[in-house]
Amino acid sequence: MAAPTDPRVLVINSGSSSLKFQLLAPADGTVEATGIVERVGQDRGNASITAGDRESTFEGPVPDHKEAMKIVERLFGDVGLSLADDRIRAVGHRVVQGGARYSQPVLIDEQVRWDIHDLGKLAPLHNYAAVDGIDGAQALLPEVPHVAVFDTAFFTALPDAAANYALNRELAKQYRVRRYGAHGTSHQFVSEAVSSHLAAQGRDVSALRQVVLHLGNGASASAVRGGEAMETSMGLTPLEGLVMGTRTGDIDPSIYIHLHRQAGFGAEEIDDVLNKRSGMMGMCGMNDFRDITAAVDAGDEAATLAMDVYVHRLRKYLGSYSFVLGGLDVIAFTAGIGENVPMVRERLLTGLEGFGIELDLEANAARSKEMRVISAPGSKVTVMIVPTDEELSIARQAAEVAREIAG
Ligand code: AMP
Repeated sequence: MAAPTDPRVLVINSGSSSLKFQLLAPADGTVEATGIVERVGQDRGNASITAGDRESTFEGPVPDHKEAMKIVERLFGDVGLSLADDRIRAVGHRVVQGGARYSQPVLIDEQVRWDIHDLGKLAPLHNYAAVDGIDGAQALLPEVPHVAVFDTAFFTALPDAAANYALNRELAKQYRVRRYGAHGTSHQFVSEAVSSHLAAQGRDVSALRQVVLHLGNGASASAVRGGEAMETSMGLTPLEGLVMGTRTGDIDPSIYIHLHRQAGFGAEEIDDVLNKRSGMMGMCGMNDFRDITAAVDAGDEAATLAMDVYVHRLRKYLGSYSFVLGGLDVIAFTAGIGENVPMVRERLLTGLEGFGIELDLEANAARSKEMRVISAPGSKVTVMIVPTDEELSIARQAAEVAREIAG
């Protein structure tokens, strides 16, 4: 538990229609306040904050992310906190798209702000919101360093063979089409936590080969060797790869053209179908795995098929990434589904004993919030559950940049 006077970092995560915030101590992750402003851009927004046993809420219009920050300031006041608190040493902003350029967290200056806005062409739902969140937060905390932590940073070093699409070279260059990945903060946090855990047990982790499965409402896989990302399943946008809550993941690109020609869908409608009306939701009408697993257990046909498609896609990625890495040492599960749904882990890994993967079924079924090993003692591949903490990771990276500039 951090001392009341210890430094704090404010973490801001501006999503397409929400702004999540957390005030925490980067030293040990103590969370002092956490909350969310929802339905940003709509007439009837709402917001809430929790700080220990104090809570407050807000309802009313939230026209944009700049205004959302003013609501955050108000909520802080409601629970006896202030943004003008001199314990706040940095503000860490999650930025979804950092392009090929931003491989590290950076202090936000005019150029960085301009670049984040420009990269909005690649992530329009997120980067423009991030710029507004940055503007709003800078207006309220003008004396504090603001740091951008990019979701793509961990994947800027992907090998060229993994980062390029087999698309016309000129078009790819002109329109910056390449595989940028996403969820990088989580993949980095989890793979580092795995390495530290195994190093502490005396294992040589210098060339450790891991597949990290971040399975949340958005889902992605990565292949990591010796701490470096070798592959990731998300591409130009977070649509590529695994089956997700409401997104298709990989599909034949001709399906876009087919929907255009046969159903008369335009670009916006296709975007909507692929991102919001597909995935688990599109296949079985549910995207919360608490409901889906209950439906599978009850014999529901659509839920059973959706689960089969979900697990099959995961298996294809696990298998191909093992080959990309030239072998496999660790499988790490994280995020809402990865951490909490034994059925997915069991269905994915059952029958892979021939590849040195043996799950301990009892450990897999046990509930815990801790990092833990769930493979059987004799398993060649170590299977782990590693709770992700993107806010803490962002806070630590922002604090580090703030320390560097303070010299
Ligand atoms: P995330 O995007 O990481 O917050 O993950 C959210 C998803 O995780 C939810 O939509 C659920 O499908 C799943 N989830 C979270 N907690 C549980 C739980 N206790 N049991 C089953 N599924 C869960």
